[in-house]
Amino acid sequence: MSSLPSFTDDTRGLRLEIIETARALPKLGLTKGTSGNVSARVEGGFLITPSGTPYEDLTPDKIVPLDLEGRCRGDFLPSSEWRMHLDFYLAKPDCGAVVHCHSPRATALACLRRGIPAFHYMVALAGGDRIECADYASFGTRALSEAMIAALGERNACLLANHGQIAGGPNLKKALSVAEGVEDLADQYLSALSIGDPHILDATEMKNILQKFKSYGKQAGELTAGQTAAFELPVRVD
Ligand code: 13P
Ligand code: ZN
Repeated sequence: MSSLPSFTDDTRGLRLEIIETARALPKLGLTKGTSGNVSARVEGGFLITPSGTPYEDLTPDKIVPLDLEGRCRGDFLPSSEWRMHLDFYLAKPDCGAVVHCHSPRATALACLRRGIPAFHYMVALAGGDRIECADYASFGTRALSEAMIAALGERNACLLANHGQIAGGPNLKKALSVAEGVEDLADQYLSALSIGDPHILDATEMKNILQKFKSYGKQAGELTAGQTAAFELPVRVD
């Protein structure tokens, strides 16, 4: 059995960061009660929030270590959605953290079993030209995890039918910000749908947007010549 990180090892800082991220979910209006869960990758496995525990009661010793074969240790049961988190890490080697929540607008859309098409260019924040909604399966099942993997494809977020959403990123901050972004997009899409038929950006434009996202946020010195060409930059006079 691979060695599982324990409370006495050097994961205390990461455990605290997981707790901070989990507590941010209700603060940001992304979840209520004990719904939702948060994990972060460590060598050989990941650390995840315990099942059914109010966010305010979380302490570092309650964060559960699992290895990549789904084995855990300790007195606390891992989140019932540990398999979705595990399969996310197995499918996406660059993913360092995963956030699952029942954010209200993404969940409303997921109850219609509708994904989010390219009605706004920001759907690219999930790494593709749309965000899909996974088929329904009961919470905490392998079937749900399989449906999630199918809906993710190359992307790092999806909706979960009649349930919520799940998002990943290289670290906890980024995973949380993808989950927030998915909720914003669901909110905007539902608003647009309520008064009409939103225009959907075509595949060519979304390819262009995904290219631009590779350099967006970088500073002048960090851009390659090709990346500079993706933006209309003013002439420098200094
Ligand atoms: P856990 O409390 O087991 O993490 O479950 C919450 C949840 O959102 C189930 O889908
Ligand atoms: Zn859930």
